[in-house]
Amino acid sequence: MFIKQMTVGMMGVCCYIAACEETKQGVIIDPGGNEEEILAACDKEGLTVKYIVNTHGHPDHVCGNGKLKEATGADIVMHAADADFFGQDKVEQFFSQLGLPASPPVDKRVEDGDILAFGNETLAVIHTPGHTPGHLCFFFQEPGVLFLGDYDLTPFGPWYGDRDSSIQDTISSIERLKQIPATIWLTCHETGIFEENPGDLWDQYLAVIDHRESRLLDYLNEPRTMADIVDAWIVYQRPREPKEFYALAEEMIMQKHLDLLVANSAVVKEGERYRRK
Ligand SMILES: [Zn+2]
Ligand SMILES: [Zn+2]
Repeated sequence: MFIKQMTVGMMGVCCYIAACEETKQGVIIDPGGNEEEILAACDKEGLTVKYIVNTHGHPDHVCGNGKLKEATGADIVMHAADADFFGQDKVEQFFSQLGLPASPPVDKRVEDGDILAFGNETLAVIHTPGHTPGHLCFFFQEPGVLFLGDYDLTPFGPWYGDRDSSIQDTISSIERLKQIPATIWLTCHETGIFEENPGDLWDQYLAVIDHRESRLLDYLNEPRTMADIVDAWIVYQRPREPKEFYALAEEMIMQKHLDLLVANSAVVKEGERYRRK
């Protein structure tokens, strides 16, 4: 098994090339930019790319799909819950606002338990919704390599700011990933590679969710509007640029917490204001 990590694109996503050493067939996971370099790395190893695989449909993970598909003819693979976005006009517009090309329509939709074969290697598909509804992780059983995608074990903690993200699904997915008997863990952001069991990092990563919730509850000792809540920067800790983008993400993530807290009767909404009960 050949595996190469490359940091690509303006968001610094870790893209991975994985290939069968005997047949030289391979896959590219999350090509989020630097397409020429990815192609050069494949050429250098003499690889034929069978699949362009995306852990999920976020722009920084799929923006190289088009160029790589054109160059290699490989099939684009995603979970249906994220794949269905692509090929629509509004998605093209959304991506062009970000200055990134959207993925072409997805060729192959996969789900939990599916196996992607290339050469003599197989990649097991694990559906891990939460970050996005169609987020996927991948497991190479033989060498025990687990691709965690955006469950990246960073101190920032899990991100669940999409319309269809879910806090509960995020927690269940992380709990499931923790149980997989891997020997190497690969993520799409920051550290990227863990060659020893992340151990406590799993729990610290999950604990960020509770920490956000308790900070929010403290803040709601007085009634607050959503604008107040966003200004408290509980998730991002401080205003970040571009502010518009981060303020929206802060709001979306806080809204997920508020929905749960209101459903559990820990918080009430009175007019425009939320208050701890
Ligand atoms: Zn993402
Ligand atoms: Zn990401």
